[in-house]
Amino acid sequence: MAIFIKRQLQNFVVASSELSFFLLLCLIINTNVQAQNYPQDYFRCPLDSLPNFVSPFGGLRDNHFHSGVDLKTNQHEGLPVYATADGYVARIKIQSGGYGKALYIDHPNGFTTVYGHLQKYHGEIAKWIYKQQYKELSFEFDKVFDHAVLFVKKGDTIGFSGNSGGSTGPHLHYEIRDSKSEKILNPLLFGMGLKDSLRPVIFNVFFYKFVTEGLLLKKRLNIQPKNLTANDSLFIYKDTLVLEEDMYGAGIEAYDYIHNAKDAKGIYEYQLWLDGKLCFQHQLSRFSFDESKYINVHIDYPYYRLEKVRIQKCFIDDGNELNTYKTNAINGRLLLNKRKTGCIELIVVDFNKNSYKLQIPYKTEPKKIDDERVKYYKLVRGKKAFYPLKDNSINRKQFVLKMNAGSLYDTLFYNLTENAPLKYSLSKVYTLNQSITPVKKAFEIGIKPTDAKNRHRDKMLLAYFDKTESNFRSAGGAFENGFVWAKVSAFGSYFVYIDSIAPLIKQVFIKPDYDLSDTLKWNFEIKDNFSGIARYEAYIDCRWILMDYDAKNNLLIYHYDEVYQSILLDIETRKINNFSEIRPELILLVTDKKGNVSTKSFWPLTNK
Ligand SMILES: [Zn+2]
Repeated sequence: MAIFIKRQLQNFVVASSELSFFLLLCLIINTNVQAQNYPQDYFRCPLDSLPNFVSPFGGLRDNHFHSGVDLKTNQHEGLPVYATADGYVARIKIQSGGYGKALYIDHPNGFTTVYGHLQKYHGEIAKWIYKQQYKELSFEFDKVFDHAVLFVKKGDTIGFSGNSGGSTGPHLHYEIRDSKSEKILNPLLFGMGLKDSLRPVIFNVFFYKFVTEGLLLKKRLNIQPKNLTANDSLFIYKDTLVLEEDMYGAGIEAYDYIHNAKDAKGIYEYQLWLDGKLCFQHQLSRFSFDESKYINVHIDYPYYRLEKVRIQKCFIDDGNELNTYKTNAINGRLLLNKRKTGCIELIVVDFNKNSYKLQIPYKTEPKKIDDERVKYYKLVRGKKAFYPLKDNSINRKQFVLKMNAGSLYDTLFYNLTENAPLKYSLSKVYTLNQSITPVKKAFEIGIKPTDAKNRHRDKMLLAYFDKTESNFRSAGGAFENGFVWAKVSAFGSYFVYIDSIAPLIKQVFIKPDYDLSDTLKWNFEIKDNFSGIARYEAYIDCRWILMDYDAKNNLLIYHYDEVYQSILLDIETRKINNFSEIRPELILLVTDKKGNVSTKSFWPLTNK
């Protein structure tokens, strides 16, 4: 509750302050107004087919809202992707993770379209990129154009759909942004013509109580058909809900359904009403990248971590700065009168206005002794806390924590425990709460290794347990001034570990029936045991060659290109000049994040 009160104070400060604030406000409002005009029929569909969604805009993901729409490519790669309107290439970003091969196009009407997970680029764009990669000696790059170099016409093929980057199946990720503010907009606002007559469904409703520093304890209503009387799109809960608190927060587990899409989808809009008055409304039409992280307070994050179910709150919780809400004066909270009966109504609406309305009759009763609350206060009594608006720190002899203000969403009561070193760890194991508390910004921890004079100091890093003690992962970091330091973005158990093992390199043969173009490629598997791959380089006959890196499949792929042709020519010339026979040797160097290097040579003749 601490921040809730502070936010009210902040509003007051803005209202009573100087002219500059007012001007700034006008500017902000002005950009909002501009983007409210969503031209219809300006953008065509980026694929040949009608839009068919795999995942809609704003879907709930880990640490972010889905910032575009995922369009079906029917499990195939290589479908032509078209510029959806005239414009010029504004940015090209190639990553082994994330959006993989992505293209950004700026349009003269103030919008930017983004195309992600491409298999490859096409035409002049492809040529430009190939040249740039050889110039920068890098597969991955991020080029933002400050002026137009590559122009496109509406309907031009810009590339082919794929599965590159972090994508887990072939599809096209498509976004529309406001070019100036970089806010991400729901592409459906531009009349994409999605056919959908299926309505969303509420599965569960939750009620939260509030405690002094934060949340909350739950009451769960299971919304199953047997508990409801239904009438078209109106569903009435058969029982009367008994409420004893003066104030509650509600939450829902709800999904939207779209024809031909297998899995349940994120929802576009939901509302909470109390006795005929709107308390809370959330609608996903637009948001900024900065706001996306607030998904971790938009949903009940601890519940998600424990139960794998995302409850969307119907109130603005402490630390939530997402701007997609409309609420009553108390941020969507339900304020109840004593000894009263009434109705709580929840409405979920999809973009095509298919809706699901749920009415829950309630009555209030005097408060009994609240065991859960008593338990909660017992639990936090005497505990130390981290505060979201302050710098926080822990300074022990062998464990140090430095957390800047703004790293947390809400007040956190913490518990630091110290356990004996494990067989394989180089320090004690420090556990700072469970990993179910969301972290807004990474913070730094330092752990003293038991043997700080160890000659492998430079290979030290921090490790953390992933769910069980037999499964631990790298948190990165390095040795400095007697401690191993790492920036981490989760609570949990940490200890010092050593990575002195170099990555593995292996040539792999992908069966020709898997991909007919395999004969034109040379594939290698690269894997690291712990800290992860930091760099890779490949040379043939001492010349750098371009390799595609597919991180999720641990694959490095060389497509025989014109550089290879010229290398072969060079070798031929040397042979003619009576030099001894030289085969075009490929040398691969792969380095992990602790500087362990592997080198291996290959000859193309062994490929077939
Ligand atoms: Zn996507």
